[in-house]
Amino acid sequence: MARALARINLLRGADGAQALIGIVLVIASIVIPILAGSAYWTHNFLIVSLFVSVAVVQNLLLSDAGQVSFGQGAVFGIAAYTVGMVGTLWSQGFVIGALCGMAAAILLGLLFALPALRVQGYYLGFVTLSAAVVFPQMLVALNDYTNGINGIPVTVPGLSEQGQTGFTLIALLVIVLTSAALLFHAAFRATRAGRRMRVAAASPEAAMTLGIDPGRLRFLAFSIAAIGTGIAGLLYVPVLGFVSPYAFRVDLSIFFFFSVVIGGNGQLLGPLIGAWILYLVPNALLAGWSDYRLVGYGIVALLIMLVFPDGVVGSMMDRLRRFRARESVPLIAMDHLLNDPVTDLSPPASATSAIVVTGARKSFGQLAALGGVDLSVTAGHIHGLVGPNGSGKTTLLNAISGLAPLDSGVIRIDGTDATRFAAHRLAALGVGRTFQTPRIFDSMSIWENLMIGADAAPTHDPWLLRTLARDEESWSESRPDLLPHAQRRVLEIMRVIASDAPILLLDEPAAGLSPEERRDFARLMRFLRDRLGRTILIVEHDLDLVWRVADRISVLDAGLIVAEGPPDEIHDNPRVRALFTGTINA
Ligand code: ADP
Ligand code: MG
Repeated sequence: MARALARINLLRGADGAQALIGIVLVIASIVIPILAGSAYWTHNFLIVSLFVSVAVVQNLLLSDAGQVSFGQGAVFGIAAYTVGMVGTLWSQGFVIGALCGMAAAILLGLLFALPALRVQGYYLGFVTLSAAVVFPQMLVALNDYTNGINGIPVTVPGLSEQGQTGFTLIALLVIVLTSAALLFHAAFRATRAGRRMRVAAASPEAAMTLGIDPGRLRFLAFSIAAIGTGIAGLLYVPVLGFVSPYAFRVDLSIFFFFSVVIGGNGQLLGPLIGAWILYLVPNALLAGWSDYRLVGYGIVALLIMLVFPDGVVGSMMDRLRRFRARESVPLIAMDHLLNDPVTDLSPPASATSAIVVTGARKSFGQLAALGGVDLSVTAGHIHGLVGPNGSGKTTLLNAISGLAPLDSGVIRIDGTDATRFAAHRLAALGVGRTFQTPRIFDSMSIWENLMIGADAAPTHDPWLLRTLARDEESWSESRPDLLPHAQRRVLEIMRVIASDAPILLLDEPAAGLSPEERRDFARLMRFLRDRLGRTILIVEHDLDLVWRVADRISVLDAGLIVAEGPPDEIHDNPRVRALFTGTINA
């Protein structure tokens, strides 16, 4: 019982509600025609429900993983066709056929994942679209094995026999599959992998600095899509009683893709609404026009996108959210955090070097952004990195966090040579960072934005989350897109703190903060150093703030360190003053 309640809690929020509405609609759409004795509508809704379950996993692939696949119809088709070939033509029966069909679907689905590791966006779309175009032609061309254009009849007696009530086993299986797909999607999004998948899609860069390997998550998304699509393909065979190349033309792949888009990218209920509209309008209501199906999809999609730019469900949810958001978004108060008694104080760090950079060079074409930089950051210190715009500060942080490999030079983190490490491996070494433009994920709640930091933490109950947990409720219901700019910076800093990374690289974290917020921010920096034992490399344009908090300052100019020392020394250095004349209070 308690476990069941925990599950429901997991599904709380818009995702869970939409999944439940979807399940009710699926059940009603199949049960009502059966009870009413309409074989025509029962058949139509069984097919559309199978399409919905494919569209649900396509939604996960497109909206959560950011992968454009126009080839899911071929995955669906290969599962169905294998059942026909193995089951009927080779007389192995439905069960063996289904197992082979599943294997074929997973194989093809993962074949799509391979290009996705290298290419993205339109290129990936093109590769998968080619597969969808070629697939039905292959079915015809290989007619010795596939029975070609004549198709293959398949009878599965146990599944389609009607009981006294008119229900069939296949109807039950379709309801279970579609409901399971919706529930799975809602539950998956609340998991660590589900959050990380969305982060990797929204910003692969930021994802890697949070320890995420985007390639692995893409692979996972394609696997989930292949399994869901494959099972739907298997069940399609007994519903139709027949497979033919005609059923798996490229239209089908386009149909799945558009179902997601017009229903509302990223909305749980979107694929269902999209598939219903796209299937029922041209096929059922305008059956005489079925030759113009592709044109029908195009017109319906165009009209809907004009009225609902975020898809039907997406646009409605957006309106609802704006309506509710008039009550202001709860602010993230740093005070909150700073006044919290920290129980597990880290021991003061010994004076070893956390980051050592030697001879770092990096050029962009003719321009030497880093011309041989040496930098050593002592563990447990706040180290300021200042310099005029374009002097190479961000480039140096990118190199240290593994986002932009050096042309030459060495980077050591806690003594480990990390020069050639990919960003997610550097994150695993304990390097966390924020960006000059905060990477906040507007499709997630404020709380989820914090959670993806905690997801990167080696321990499961980081101190920050315990402290902030009292605001979990309100932050779970608010999106960060309504937060003022300064708060987005604070949110990103909170996220990297939540990741428990002992080394923090902060790129102009105080830009855009008010004087009062800067004072709080300076307190936060000292708090992180003194009470949590963090090492901080902070890039700042504004010398005043750095003077207040840094133990040591390096000054970068045109890709070279021109001065280094304790704040007082830097403050009085005439060369530095000359560099910053006019910008000191900017
Ligand atoms: P800062 O952060 O100190 O303002 P950057 O490190 O962003 O400076 O940039 C240093 C120099 O390198 C600038 O002249 C910038 O135009 C150039 N630069 C940075 N990134 C790239 C890039 N990806 N491609 C080409 N030039 C770049
Ligand atoms: Mg910069």
